[in-house]
Amino acid sequence: MGSFNFDNVPNLHTSSNNINPLDPGEFRRQGHMIIDFLADYYQTIEKYPVLSQVEPGYLQPRLPKSTPYNPEPIETILQDVHDHIVPGITHWQSPNFFAYFQCTSSIAGFLGEMLSTGFNVVGFNWVASPAATELETIVMDWLGEMLELPKSFLFSGNGGGVLQGTTCEAVLCTLVAARDQMLSRIGRENLVKLVVYASDQTHSALQKAAQIAGIHPKNFRAIKTCKSTSFALSPGSLRAQIREDVEAGLVPLFLCATVGTTSTTAVDPLGSLCDVAKDYGMWVHVDAAYAGSACICPEFRHFMDGVEGVNSISLNAHKWFLTTLDCCCLWVKDPSALIKSLSTNPEYLKNKATDSKQVVDYKDWQITLSRRFRSLKLWFVLRSYGVANP
Ligand SMILES: *Cc1c(COP(=O)(O)O)cnc(C)c1O
Repeated sequence: MGSFNFDNVPNLHTSSNNINPLDPGEFRRQGHMIIDFLADYYQTIEKYPVLSQVEPGYLQPRLPKSTPYNPEPIETILQDVHDHIVPGITHWQSPNFFAYFQCTSSIAGFLGEMLSTGFNVVGFNWVASPAATELETIVMDWLGEMLELPKSFLFSGNGGGVLQGTTCEAVLCTLVAARDQMLSRIGRENLVKLVVYASDQTHSALQKAAQIAGIHPKNFRAIKTCKSTSFALSPGSLRAQIREDVEAGLVPLFLCATVGTTSTTAVDPLGSLCDVAKDYGMWVHVDAAYAGSACICPEFRHFMDGVEGVNSISLNAHKWFLTTLDCCCLWVKDPSALIKSLSTNPEYLKNKATDSKQVVDYKDWQITLSRRFRSLKLWFVLRSYGVANP
């Protein structure tokens, strides 16, 4: 603030909040209040109905019409959280919550998240926070090894992993990489011919990605599955559909296989699906958002058999891996395919480290430029539990 004189500014001393937005003493005091608030919340979480009982529009009448003109103390704000926000919460972390996916957090994940928010760095490239990038490459290799992913998906091979927000983003990034790789071979004017395949159990994340990536709506194939094969995608049905499309002059582009579908946790047979995809030069992505983390257990690893043939795989650590939202882990065999589609190199981001080509610049592996230090929370979880978790 240089020589700026606070004494000339009226009202600034009415609340200590206004002196320094990160005043360490106030941070400590208010931070402890929030931790206590949350500890009390978890201690008494079962007293709440899991599903919020409020009606649509419940909140507006309870709050002032507009932003308070004068600053308010944390005590008042927290009281309102208790009185007006908590009733409108559906308690996802309650032991009685059995919808969607549950048990998404842990002390370790929470504390890692706190540190990440506390440092509040924006590690879009290596130089913007070397630890953010390097820790991410390390934990992605660690977790990849726990899943027994082939080395080709790890930085210690020729691949690599990245932490994104959600599966929707991961699927979109891989689809765009596959699209551009194919179009560079057959010409951009052929975009309308590209076909995306999945089963009728596949998550809508793929459909959204296809819409955004410019895949023609008529070229989205949700292949029928049936109960007798536990709703897994049949390689025979896939091949028949692809043949039909090729005969019609279309170009098979992308298969999204699922390990653990949303409705029934069906598992698509990766090995035999890859055999089909390979005959047509398609990109195969594995969406293991929900169930993938279970595959760190030797008794479940067989669900990923055949993963060596795919191009990319993602899972949500924020679903079944004790990590707070958001934390989607994406591994790719060929990072250069992602980078070709997603990189930009404006003047204001140029730096020696990038020029040296010795570093990972994660901005080129994702949609957004700015990114959170998500690897901290995953690192905390991995270290706090260990592989054995005795
Ligand atoms: C939860 C889930 C998704 C969507 O994940 P987001 O991270 O919310 O995008 C996609 N696929 C499967 C199999 C899922 O379980």
